[in-house]
Amino acid sequence: MFNFIKKLLGAGARSDDETLNEQIQDILPAGLIQLAVAGENCDSIAGASGLFGLEHTNPVPVNGIKGEIKYINRLLCPCGKYLMAHRLGSIKAPGSEGAVDVYETVCSELAHWDIMYFHFYHPRRSLMVPKNYSRDAFHSQFSKTIIGMTTNTACRNFPAGMGQIVTEMLGPTFGASVMKKIGYKTSQPFKRPAAHIEKIMDVIQTGLFEGHVSGDVLNCEAEKLMAVRLRNEEEQK
Ligand SMILES: [Zn+2]
Repeated sequence: MFNFIKKLLGAGARSDDETLNEQIQDILPAGLIQLAVAGENCDSIAGASGLFGLEHTNPVPVNGIKGEIKYINRLLCPCGKYLMAHRLGSIKAPGSEGAVDVYETVCSELAHWDIMYFHFYHPRRSLMVPKNYSRDAFHSQFSKTIIGMTTNTACRNFPAGMGQIVTEMLGPTFGASVMKKIGYKTSQPFKRPAAHIEKIMDVIQTGLFEGHVSGDVLNCEAEKLMAVRLRNEEEQK
């Protein structure tokens, strides 16, 4: 516990993340600052249950929008690759203040797809990681920026469309070097695994979801699946 506090205060020679003070300064949107500073300073939310970060009932506590992006950009999938991510929308989570943000993530090998949940009403980012993920070492410059392949908005045709978003955000030259570092392959065809689409359907079917999941984002796969499921349910009545 003592080591943990030392790290938080930035007293150690090596830090696992930005200092608490830096993270508070980083909170966006501005209207959130007071609420987030007063929020629980924690690695996981008290009383939360379910898989950490992977179920909406146990979202990752972070410090505002930039906190979400910086957290995702440091995650490594089980094969040790960086992630690409976009925000599908938000979900009203029972028992927690405000909304829980819902991100779709995939590693640069397109092998590990997930839906991750964030609660951004906290003064700092969690030091915990979702099951089977790890964290890249803290980089004294890079980890202090939001440069990566994560966006707070919904990406059409994810993850192929991320190339355009990153190019618009960072310019063609710098954008290309970031994509290279992350291992983004423009030419690689992709298809969401059926089990992953099921996960997205589960989010929608909670009835608590507000966001951008549409035929556009999912290439109609989810809507087709929904239609089939509803038809089967009807037939069983
Ligand atoms: Zn992977």
